[in-house]
Amino acid sequence: MSDVDIAIVGGGVSGLYAAWRLSTVPNPPKVAVFESSATLGGRIDTADLPVPDPAARVEFGAMRFLPSMQLVSNLLTHLGLAREAFPGTNLRQTFLRGVQVDMGGGSNLPYRLAAGEPGNVGTLLVNILNGAVPNALGLSARQWRDVVKSAMFKGSELWRWGFQNVAEEFVSNEAYEYICDASGLDSALLTANAANAMRCVTAILPDFAANQVFRPVDGFGSLIAALRDRLADCPNCGIHTQQQVISASRQGDSVILNFLPPFGPSEVSADQVSADRVIFALPRRALELIDMGPMFPNQSAGRNLLMSKLARVDGIPAFKLCIVYDQPWWQSYTSTTQGATGWSEGYAVTDLPLRQVFFGLGVGSTPAGNARVLMASYADTQAARFWTGQAQVSSHTPLLGSHGGKLQQAGPGNLTDEINTQLRTLLQANGPLPDPLSVGYMDWSADPFGGGWHEWKPNVDVTSAIPDMRQPIPGAPVYVCGEAYSWFQSWIEGALMSAERLLQDHFKMAWPAEWLPQDYDLGP
Ligand SMILES: Cc1cc2nc3c(=O)[nH]c(=O)nc-3n(C[C@H](O)[C@H](O)[C@H](O)COP(=O)(O)OP(=O)(O)OC[C@H]3O[C@@H](n4cnc5c(N)ncnc54)[C@H](O)[C@@H]3O)c2cc1C
Repeated sequence: MSDVDIAIVGGGVSGLYAAWRLSTVPNPPKVAVFESSATLGGRIDTADLPVPDPAARVEFGAMRFLPSMQLVSNLLTHLGLAREAFPGTNLRQTFLRGVQVDMGGGSNLPYRLAAGEPGNVGTLLVNILNGAVPNALGLSARQWRDVVKSAMFKGSELWRWGFQNVAEEFVSNEAYEYICDASGLDSALLTANAANAMRCVTAILPDFAANQVFRPVDGFGSLIAALRDRLADCPNCGIHTQQQVISASRQGDSVILNFLPPFGPSEVSADQVSADRVIFALPRRALELIDMGPMFPNQSAGRNLLMSKLARVDGIPAFKLCIVYDQPWWQSYTSTTQGATGWSEGYAVTDLPLRQVFFGLGVGSTPAGNARVLMASYADTQAARFWTGQAQVSSHTPLLGSHGGKLQQAGPGNLTDEINTQLRTLLQANGPLPDPLSVGYMDWSADPFGGGWHEWKPNVDVTSAIPDMRQPIPGAPVYVCGEAYSWFQSWIEGALMSAERLLQDHFKMAWPAEWLPQDYDLGP
């Protein structure tokens, strides 16, 4: 048995951040991070697609941040990581319900909006937000905490409602469909807890509207590498990959972690680790896969209690599919409707399963390589399920990415045919598209993630559920952090907020005043 003061299970950004922060105090505790896969980062997954020079690097997970997200933004600066404008903010094409839609206010909108309803997605969304919460966009972060806690809607707390149920009071069903279709991702609007979803949407709208969207120059993998390198300088800290925790139990005041055999080479020689305290920096599905029954005097009652707490969020299916071509053909192609056209960067939205397509979206210092990357699909919920199904009937060659993203060579009857058909429809391209050099994808609904991101369900009092999840087993030295149960789900910011708040509340860590303003709100 090996002993540590604090074991952190999960080498995603929240786990590594927590370990790094703990390593910065004088006389740091003995901290060990245990990561089940061979590489660190989790849903930060910056990977090279295997193509001849120039290199083509893609983000299968997180790819952008907003300046209002002060934890991630300031952390990048503090760690010396350069940023650049995210090159995917220009909307080039919108193809909905079988027609190319003029989003600039044209009259060809294929939705039967109610009389007098605006044809602008942003205006419709603001009408919902302001309808449910007066002056929604003018509220401060602290004011939103009160709204999420106690705002009422039609006689019940707003948090009891689903976003869609509230929305139908303020826009027609057709308008709601239009908002979902044109936004490119469905999840924030479909099933989410209305109070929390509205807060998150209002938090990100101003930066998106002002085109203030950024990314680390070398991709988010550089953030993971920087945290890993800082930890390597700490003699009391260890990072152990290929160490999957399968159960946790109590022994006196300690927690015993059990690992899936075989244990990693020369990393942890024992099949058990004893820790004074354990932080599970994991999403819902990964937590469900660990048997924590033995933590409780009554195992089955304990398991049921924990499972019901974990079930307060939904994991949202998410899928990313990236392609490298010999040449960036979208810079110059012929459209059946527009004639000769093209662009080097930007994105397109459709209600086809592709949903969002980003052009020239490689990351890193090789512009020629970046230019020829197409993020052909960024999809969630139903559209993600389409690609999960499509991928299952396609044949794959080697694994790619840190968690089993798949790589496929171009050829008949595989994913490429389906992608090309949809791309041609979306872009109204005249003639066949070239074959890709390689295709890689990542299905985030697979274990151990169970979704790309999470949403608090309706009928959950989020402002009390968040602190409860920080220490979900009363009295046990077991803690949870990460995006899944955070105040800013679906973003790295939420993962960091939750880790920072946990460290301050339960590990006596001081505010990181050197790089984070004292008035920044970390949520409840
Ligand atoms: C497609 C996609 C796009 C996104 N886009 C953005 C974006 O543009 N901007 C943004 O800010 N955020 C984005 N996000 C969200 C962001 O990636 C996440 O919020 C963040 O990375 C989550 O970090 P985490 O530490 O909470 O969890 P994770 O990254 O899920 O880390 C958990 C880690 O635990 C490991 N693990 C699981 N089970 C065990 C076990 N039993 N034992 C040991 N280890 C285990 C996993 O392998 C993983 O490494 C995106 C996510 C996805 C999927």
